[in-house]
Amino acid sequence: MRIRNKPWAMDYLEEHSHIVDITNAYEKNIHDFFEEEQPLHIEIGTGMGTFITELAKRNPDINYLGIELDKNIIIRVVEKIVEMDLKNVRLVLLDANFISDYILPDTASKIYLNFSDPWPKTRHAKRRLTHQTFLSRYESILKPGCAIQFKTDNRGLFEYSLQSLNAYGMKFEEIILDLHEEEPEDNIRTEYEEKFSGNGSKIFFLKASF
Ligand code: SAM
Repeated sequence: MRIRNKPWAMDYLEEHSHIVDITNAYEKNIHDFFEEEQPLHIEIGTGMGTFITELAKRNPDINYLGIELDKNIIIRVVEKIVEMDLKNVRLVLLDANFISDYILPDTASKIYLNFSDPWPKTRHAKRRLTHQTFLSRYESILKPGCAIQFKTDNRGLFEYSLQSLNAYGMKFEEIILDLHEEEPEDNIRTEYEEKFSGNGSKIFFLKASF
């Protein structure tokens, strides 16, 4: 995904502060960001937001929080939320490293990770969003027993994630090695998923709970 730097990005995001939190105004206060108090599901690394906006449209009784660290990319999600007039999606411009400072313990019911950056070099393993440091942050903000759902085209990252989640003691609920072979009706393809599937890559899927 090649996104140009947009010099007007922060002005645009400030104008839409009812949709995207750029100043950590809702730190430890996330339910106040939404119109209705409903279960909270989180996507980390929304990209351009096709997944989270479609999911929110299909499930109006769930609140969705998208976390994305790139201001030039998150603009595209804000645009979709405005266009689709979604009341149950809110965004935060945040590095997921700080997710458990931002969100109180036992707050969310599900976390989605879609096509997270693979960080293939061993010395960068700590940056992978399925590294045990991230798992412990997810465990803290999730209610007990709740799950993370992960999709990737990257076999190395998938194998690493299986090992990491297993070593953390998570319970695997579903593992699919070729998601598009018999694509579930409720699968929502992300931008990367469309791209990689179009190139003939297999899509790996897992769901695991704490
Ligand atoms: N999920 C989208 C998809 O499947 O099309 C985008 C995938 S893209 C490879 C990874 C996204 O995660 C990028 O938009 C990147 O800015 C974001 N990201 C990477 N590390 C992150 C972090 N630590 N916190 C928040 N977002 C992150």
